[in-house]
Amino acid sequence: IKTILFKNRPAGKPSTSNFELITEDDPKPAEGEVLLKSLYISVDPYLRGRMRDQKSYIEPFKLNEPLESNVVAEVVESNNSNFQKGEFVSGMLKWKELQTSKGSGLNKVHKELAPLSAFLGVLGLTGLTAHLGLEKIGHPKEGETLVVSGAAGAVGSIVGQIGKIKGCRVIGIAGTDEKVEHIKQEFGFDVGINYNSTKDMKQAIAEACPGGVDVYFDNVGGEILDAVLQNVNKDARIINCGAISLYNETEVPMGPRPEGILIKNTVLMQGFLVRDHVKDFGSSLQQLGSWIKEGKLKYDETVVEGFDKLPEAFIGLFEGKNTGKMVVKI
Ligand code: NDP
Repeated sequence: IKTILFKNRPAGKPSTSNFELITEDDPKPAEGEVLLKSLYISVDPYLRGRMRDQKSYIEPFKLNEPLESNVVAEVVESNNSNFQKGEFVSGMLKWKELQTSKGSGLNKVHKELAPLSAFLGVLGLTGLTAHLGLEKIGHPKEGETLVVSGAAGAVGSIVGQIGKIKGCRVIGIAGTDEKVEHIKQEFGFDVGINYNSTKDMKQAIAEACPGGVDVYFDNVGGEILDAVLQNVNKDARIINCGAISLYNETEVPMGPRPEGILIKNTVLMQGFLVRDHVKDFGSSLQQLGSWIKEGKLKYDETVVEGFDKLPEAFIGLFEGKNTGKMVVKI
C-alpha cells in the first residue's frame, strides 16, 4: 500500500519535495481493530501550520511519519463489534491507502444523506466552521452587510450563503474573475471583488459597501483584513477564522495598526477555532443538512484524483486552484 510521509519542513511555500511517497505491506487489523480503506482525503490550509516545528493548538507533524487529515474511509474488515464491514466512517486518519484503527474518534457517515465527499466539506469541518463561526461571533442580522474573504473556497462559499439566508447583503472577495462570477451566479452573493485585479482594496470595499461593513468573516488576513478594517461600522464584528495569506510567510509583515479603528467603532474582533465547539456540531450539521435539502445551501468541490496527488492538491490551496472544498479521491 502507498503512504505519504512528511519529509522536511518547508521554508515559505510548500513543495512536493516536502513529501515522500513510499510503499508498505498491507496492515492487518488486530483484535478490536478495523481495517479502513481511504476513499476521500481532505487537504486543508491549516495543515501548513502543522508543518512548522512550533507549539500551536494542534501537534506539529513529525518528520518521516505519515501526514494526517480528515478522511472518509470504508470499513473493509472489522474485529470491532461497533463497526460492520461495508460501513463508512470519517475521522482524523493517516495519509495511507489502508490503515487499522481501534475505532476511537471515528464517526459513521451515511451515504444516503449526501455524497461521501461532502462529509469532508459542507457536512464536515468546513461547513461547521462557516456556520458556527458566523453565528457565534458574527451574529448577522437582517439588512446588515457581511463581507467574506476566501469567498469561493470551502468555508467562504458557505459563509456567504448563510449570510444570504440570514437576510444580509453579502460581498465576497476571491482571486479570479471566474470565481467572482461563480459566487454571484451560483451562491447569490450580491457583489464580488477580485483582489488580484483590484489596486485599491480599501476603495473597492467602500464602493461595494456604501453603508459600511457590519460583519467580516476573515479567511485570509493580511492586506485584505487591513482594507476591510478601514470600512467597518460601529459595533462591527470580525471573525478571525483564517489567515492563509500569511501561512507561507517566513516573517509576518506588519500592516496599519488596527487599534484606533477598533476602539473608535467598538468593534468586536475574535479568533475562532471550530474545534472548541464540538458540543454544537450535532445541531449545526442538522441545520446545514436541512438547508441543503431545502435547496437554500449549495456546495462545490474540487476533486483531484489519485492518492499520489495529495501533495499537489494541498499545495494548490495556496495557488487558488480550488473552488469549494478541495478533496482527493483515492
Ligand atoms: P479554501 O477552500 O478557502 O482554500 C484556500 C483558498 O484561499 C484558495 O482557494 C485561494 O482562493 C485562497 N488564497 C490562497 N492564498 C491566498 C492569499 N495569499 N490571499 C488571499 N487568498 C488566498 O480553504 P478552507 O475553506 O478550507 O479554509 C479557509 C480558511 O479558513 C483558511 O484560512 C483556513 O486555515 C481557515 N480555517 C479555519 C478553521 C478554524 O477552526 N479556525 C477551520 C477550517 C478552516 P483565491 O483564488 O480566492 O485566492
